[in-house]
Amino acid sequence: MSRISYVNGHYVPHHAASVHIEDRGYQFSDGVYEVVSIHMGKPIDMDSHMVRLTRSLEELEIAWPVCLRAMDMIIREVIRRNRIRDGIVYMQITRGVATRNHAFPDHHNSAFVVTAKRLPPFDFDAANKGVNIITTPEIRWQRCDIKTISLLGNCLAKEKARRAGCYEAWFVEDDGMITEGTTSNSWIVTANGELVTRDVSNTILNGITRLSIMKVAKENNIEFSQRAFSLEEAKSAKEAFISSTTSFVKPVLNIDDKPVGDGKVGPLSAKLLSYYGDHMKAQLA
Ligand code: PLP
Repeated sequence: MSRISYVNGHYVPHHAASVHIEDRGYQFSDGVYEVVSIHMGKPIDMDSHMVRLTRSLEELEIAWPVCLRAMDMIIREVIRRNRIRDGIVYMQITRGVATRNHAFPDHHNSAFVVTAKRLPPFDFDAANKGVNIITTPEIRWQRCDIKTISLLGNCLAKEKARRAGCYEAWFVEDDGMITEGTTSNSWIVTANGELVTRDVSNTILNGITRLSIMKVAKENNIEFSQRAFSLEEAKSAKEAFISSTTSFVKPVLNIDDKPVGDGKVGPLSAKLLSYYGDHMKAQLA
C-alpha cells in the first residue's frame, strides 16, 4: 500500500507530494508544525496539540490554511487513507508561496501539508529501555517556545549526539542550566528525590507529553517542581529521562558518558512511563 499525503487541498501519493520552491517554509523556515502520535487508531492528546498549534500560528501571525474543523477532518483522513493503527501524523503550515522577500507577503495563503507514518505499537518494555545522551551548548534562538520548523540548531545537536552513539543531546546555557533536548523535554529526579522539569519560558517548547506527565503525576500524588536545573545537578541526579510524543517517557542512563544514579532505569521514570501508557489507553474509549 502506498503512502498518501495531503498537500494544499489534495491527497497525493507520498512520493509525488511536493511544494513550490518559493514556499516560505523552504526558503526561510517560516512555518510551524505538530507531531501527534496515533495509538490504536486514535490521535493522542489531539486537543492539546491543536491548542499549541494555534499559539504557534498566532505568535508568528501565520493565517490558518483552513478552519480548525476542516484541519481535524483532513488529519483524520490522512490517518485513514494510510491505515495507520499506530504511528504518527505530521502537519506543517507555512506562510505560503511568495516572491523571495524577508518581509511577510500581502496574501494570507498559508500552505498546509499532512503526512503520516506507521510505527510499532506502544509497548511498555520496548519504551522502558534506557538511552545515553550528550550535552551541547545552547545555540538556538530566543523563541524556542514556538513549534517552528526552524530547527537547524536542533539538527546540528542531534547529529552530534548520533555521531557520539547517543540518542539525544541536552542543550546547556552559558550559566550551566539545561534547557531541553533537541526533540524532547528534560527531566531529572534529584539526589534528594525531587522530580524536576524546567519551567515554561521562551527557552523551551512546552511539550504536550511534558504536560501529560505532569497531569498523571498529579493524579497519582507524585510531586514535581517546574524550575531550571543545572548540568551539575543532572549529573548527580538519581534518575533522568526525556519526554516527547515519539519517545513517550524515555529513561536516560548516561549523560556525557557518566552514569545517572546507578546507570539503570529508575523506578520513578518507569512508573511515569506506565502512567503515561494508561493516559494513552484512556483516550481509546
Ligand atoms: N522540545 C523540543 C525541542 C521538541 O522538538 C519536542 C518534540 O518534538 C519536545 C520538546 C517535546 O514535545 P512533545 O511532547 O509535544 O512531543
